[in-house]
Amino acid sequence: MEQLEKIKEIEKEKYMKLFRRQNVCFERGEGCKLYDISGHEYTDFFGGIAVNCLGYNHPDLVKAVSEQAGKLMHISNMYYSVPQAELIDRLADGSTFERAFLCNSGAEANECAIKIVRKLASESGSGKSTIVTARESFHGRTLATVTATGQEKYSAPFAPLPGGFKYVPFNDLEALKSAVTPDVGAIMLECIQGESGITPASYDYLVGAYAFARQKGILLILDEVQTGSGRTGKFYCFEHYGITPDIVTLAKGLGGGVPIGCCLARGEAADAFRPGDHGTTFGGNPLACAAANVVVQKLLETDLLDRITEAGEYLSDKLNEKLARHKFVLDIRGKGLLKGIQLDERIPALSIVGKMMSLGIIIGTCGHNTLRIAPPYIISHAEIDDMTDKLETILSGINI
Ligand SMILES: *Cc1c(COP(=O)(O)O)cnc(C)c1O
Repeated sequence: MEQLEKIKEIEKEKYMKLFRRQNVCFERGEGCKLYDISGHEYTDFFGGIAVNCLGYNHPDLVKAVSEQAGKLMHISNMYYSVPQAELIDRLADGSTFERAFLCNSGAEANECAIKIVRKLASESGSGKSTIVTARESFHGRTLATVTATGQEKYSAPFAPLPGGFKYVPFNDLEALKSAVTPDVGAIMLECIQGESGITPASYDYLVGAYAFARQKGILLILDEVQTGSGRTGKFYCFEHYGITPDIVTLAKGLGGGVPIGCCLARGEAADAFRPGDHGTTFGGNPLACAAANVVVQKLLETDLLDRITEAGEYLSDKLNEKLARHKFVLDIRGKGLLKGIQLDERIPALSIVGKMMSLGIIIGTCGHNTLRIAPPYIISHAEIDDMTDKLETILSGINI
């Protein structure tokens, strides 16, 4: 405990005043369990914000990363590397996407997508540089991606902001269509709005946006930073809708905990850049690619996606059985292993996170007073039973 107090003191004095951290310092993990510096065990239903998709200390991931660290961690994109070639060969398989750009985060992947739209507009002289995004969306923390994010709280304090973004209400196809004026070159959406409350795009909305983008000859960009890499039971969430965007972005789960982002494109978007137009020092380095190769290989070449679907259905059943009729639960949403539980406004979601933590369960929050559940893909039925039981107990113990 004394060590935790010391760590908190250092953070408080020396880290920029950004994060409201939980009262815990983690030391190691194993499977879906995390252990803090006092040795307490927790079951993780948040996975470092939907990142640690294979759980902790996964033997194949640890082996690939440690072997690669012993060979080469970084060489820059001046040269070729085997792990990078293997990864882009898997991701840009030619049928769905033709070309990839590798970077280090979701925001950077989205920056690449935004720059593709701008490059096509300037090169063709079409003037189609504006990007339409949705209110309540989240696309990252760089200046361009906070501006793309349709939530003023993230962008307003950082004015002046880059221009060329336009916002429409989510899941409203008519509003989207009327926003597509001749200056618009792309529509950028999430299949499930993650940070603002796990709000899925309706089938008709996303399929309609796809068809409309086709008809207008503009690009559809899907930000799958959170929903991609298997999270919803398909490699990409858009597969549930039977569509393929022109550009997709990935990050969070892609490296199983090692930072990596990816922007994938097809058609004219894939060929927008010329040498020198865009770049990165670290992006696509052999270490990150070695990690992502393990994750992607497991998703594409084993039955992991089926496992995610099955575990996601079990999680849905349990949440519905235990919580759907609870007076403080307004809604249960999501797909696969990404779920949101919206609570009564009078019960702060963060207080539930703290109570769950004291019972040894890690969950997260997002948006409109919603609990966010995004466990590793290896989560077991017994762990799901335990989490839902504890959540029910906590909610039932609240008197207001
Ligand atoms: C987390 C997230 C981002 C930002 O990713 P970073 O790696 O934090 O830059 C962008 N878009 C979506 C949908 C996200 O969930």
